[in-house]
Amino acid sequence: MSYATRVSEIFSELGIALPGPSPRALEIRSPIDGKRIASVPVATPAELTAAVDRAQSRFLAWRNVPAPQRGALVRALGEKVRQHKQALGRLVTIETGKIAQEGLGEVQEAIDICEFALGLSRQLYGLSIATERPDHKLLETWHPLGVVGIISAFNFPMAVWAWNASLALVCGNTLVWKPSDKTPLSALAINGLLLAAARENGVDPDGLSAVVVGERDLGEALVAHPSVRLVSATGSTGMGRAVGVTCAKHFKRALLELGGNNAAIVCPSADLKLAARAVTFAAVGTAGQRCTSLRRLIVHRSIASQFVKQLRAAYEGLPIGNPLDDGTLIGPLIDAATHERMQAALHAAKAVGATVHFGERVAGVAGGCYVRPALVEMSAQAGPMCDETFAPILYVLPYDSLEEAIALNNAVAHGLSSAIFTRDLQEAEIFTSARGSDCGIANVNIGTSGAEIGGAFGGEKETGGGRESGSDAWKNYMRRATNTINYGMSLPLAQGIKFEI
Ligand code: NAD
Repeated sequence: MSYATRVSEIFSELGIALPGPSPRALEIRSPIDGKRIASVPVATPAELTAAVDRAQSRFLAWRNVPAPQRGALVRALGEKVRQHKQALGRLVTIETGKIAQEGLGEVQEAIDICEFALGLSRQLYGLSIATERPDHKLLETWHPLGVVGIISAFNFPMAVWAWNASLALVCGNTLVWKPSDKTPLSALAINGLLLAAARENGVDPDGLSAVVVGERDLGEALVAHPSVRLVSATGSTGMGRAVGVTCAKHFKRALLELGGNNAAIVCPSADLKLAARAVTFAAVGTAGQRCTSLRRLIVHRSIASQFVKQLRAAYEGLPIGNPLDDGTLIGPLIDAATHERMQAALHAAKAVGATVHFGERVAGVAGGCYVRPALVEMSAQAGPMCDETFAPILYVLPYDSLEEAIALNNAVAHGLSSAIFTRDLQEAEIFTSARGSDCGIANVNIGTSGAEIGGAFGGEKETGGGRESGSDAWKNYMRRATNTINYGMSLPLAQGIKFEI
């Protein structure tokens, strides 16, 4: 059965209509075999404006709905996603090429964040602060913000929206989402479930959440629209730089989740068996196409050759092929351009004296682009090792002292995820201290990828500084007001200022 047929079966199970033919259609292809799976109409600038205007007028009513009632809608979305987990997971796999387990994991992440947001809908708390004046009250209160524009990358076509949407909705906002033009079907599916959940629960879906399909120019128009109060953008650093500038020009908020060039340090005391498993999953999972994929491995010189040998053995045996098949651990790259960038990076590494193991194209499903992940031994942190190549390449570099290893970890432009493998308490504490890793995520004895939704997710420097998902990330989606209330009969001024009239 073709993947196009499987996609239309998934949409009919979900009860969502696949878009029909259109003169402005974008051809969507599965990376599994490169064949067309659907055509999706591209939104015009006028359609984008209409979607934002509808979201703005819906916001004026939605902000008045009590937060726990907004939470009930997000709970209903979570239940629908759970009910269709298998179908949604398959859709993610067909559209992105990530293996079945990871497709299901992505859907589970959407379910988890809906549960988190439901609880949050009863915990949107402010502060009561001591005041210097008698008969006064000083408060901090939080209010809905407005229309949230979401821009997402191809590699997490449901979870990233779910992180944003579930929190933004319970916080009283409405949504307009421009997904990656490579993966709009996952977007149409999960957004369709939200609208169905709204209808079934007596909530008017009009203007609550819209998907606009298109390329970069449509994203730019969404960012520039004056009614969009927050732009949550996930993608490359180049994209974030452009989005950030536009947001700054219009004094609107930007929540940026951008690229990563993530490292792990393997210390002499590490459990090397555990480290090899964790490193392999982090480096080759999702065929190296996660923002948190492990790209740089900094190994103590005394164990470097032994550890590389262990990794080579693991890499040699990796099952590569159709991501829907049981047992496959590495699916295809998203497209041929990614393969070209990968080969260019390996070429550049050789030019600075590196030894490259693997990285060659392998037979997978005809029409797809399958590679054996590359392991690259470096003698210095140089050339392509300093950049994010969004493909399965792991650079390995020896170190002599922990201070040197931490300096190498921090000496790149990005600051997303990092890890240390050690059984030495002092090394672990130093790595996670103020003089340790400068990344938004610093792990001990687990890899760089695979974060849980409970923590705040995001990174520093050219990763953009944004935080999404758990902890207090909800504050991004609300505006803060400080309220001073005088319940006395006099008017004492702050700082003791006298102003008698
Ligand atoms: P991309 O930057 O090419 O595209 C991401 C999205 O931005 C797409 O929807 C695209 O159409 C849109 N876009 C591009 N330029 C734009 C502009 N100037 N204005 C508005 N929108 C614009 O990224 P990609 O190839 O889809 O994804 C891979 C990248 O995303 C990697 O760098 C990866 O590290 C990053 N990523 C980061 C996170 C994170 O949470 N930090 C998560 C996933 C992916």
